[in-house]
Amino acid sequence: MIFSVVRRSILFAAVLLIFRANLFAQEPFQFPTANHSLYEIGNELKFFAPTAPDKPWTSGSFGCVRDNGTRMHEGLDIRHLQTDRRGEPTDPVMATADGTVAYFSKKPGLSNYGNYVVIRHVVEGLEIYSLYAHLSVIRPDLKIGAAVKAGEVIATMGRTSNAEVITKDRAHVHFELNVLVNDNIRAAIWVKFVNSLCWNPVAMLTQGTLGAIRDAANLVPTLRTMMREADALAAAMGLDVGPDPDKRIALTLSAPHHKMSMLQDLERGRPMEIDPLVSVVQEMGRLTQTPTPALDAVLALVVQRAKMAGLCAPEAPHTLNEAVFA
Ligand SMILES: [Zn+2]
Repeated sequence: MIFSVVRRSILFAAVLLIFRANLFAQEPFQFPTANHSLYEIGNELKFFAPTAPDKPWTSGSFGCVRDNGTRMHEGLDIRHLQTDRRGEPTDPVMATADGTVAYFSKKPGLSNYGNYVVIRHVVEGLEIYSLYAHLSVIRPDLKIGAAVKAGEVIATMGRTSNAEVITKDRAHVHFELNVLVNDNIRAAIWVKFVNSLCWNPVAMLTQGTLGAIRDAANLVPTLRTMMREADALAAAMGLDVGPDPDKRIALTLSAPHHKMSMLQDLERGRPMEIDPLVSVVQEMGRLTQTPTPALDAVLALVVQRAKMAGLCAPEAPHTLNEAVFA
């Protein structure tokens, strides 16, 4: 049970992301079954499996939704849509995004998850783990470390668990999205911010996927320079900036087909929040007397590009704290 050790240090906040339905309309996540009723307002009971027939649908959703709000439910209980002649659920369970199989357990008596699968994803440099529980059958050829595609069937829904009895009418997949908690959360947030600060403008200006940026002549060295400048700002403010930029670049490039969000915004004509990025760099530079010539140059270009496309978000007041540590 290697993964159960890892799991204890997992934060469940990322699952909140999936309530933003627009995320499902594009990369990076999709529903793990054919049940999409969450899109239909008022149809929550068709999507969530509550803990009992007399309980509200919210008891099948994420958060402190159980025992009068005192007990956490760390995922979504997504209802079955189809059954066999004996009333057992038969819904295929699919990978929520491209990733690699991190773990699975085919010993339902060992966990309240029953049979379950964990898949590791890298989204804009952030490691995210999806988990699918109470499965009846895990695909026999699934191997730990194997790549899976978004929407690829990995298992069949079931009712397995060593703790709770899941009745046929409540059959569901328990679905989680997790991020690994870091004991240096500020450094983790900083790494994510720097990732966005550097990769987004480069992707937007060159209109390439991460793979295209990797394959271009001098873009990775440019990104490295930008990241070093940003890290120097953080170091000057006493922040531990985590792993070396080269390690972070390698992690980001492990998803070569991904398009950064700022490029997706440009392509869809959506306003871009570039000002907070520029303001943070300027403010930190001013506070620490640290020059950032590469960042300044690239950010000036990206602001101009967004203005030309008519996509600069209206200026809003923002501070370093809001943008970096909110
Ligand atoms: Zn559950």
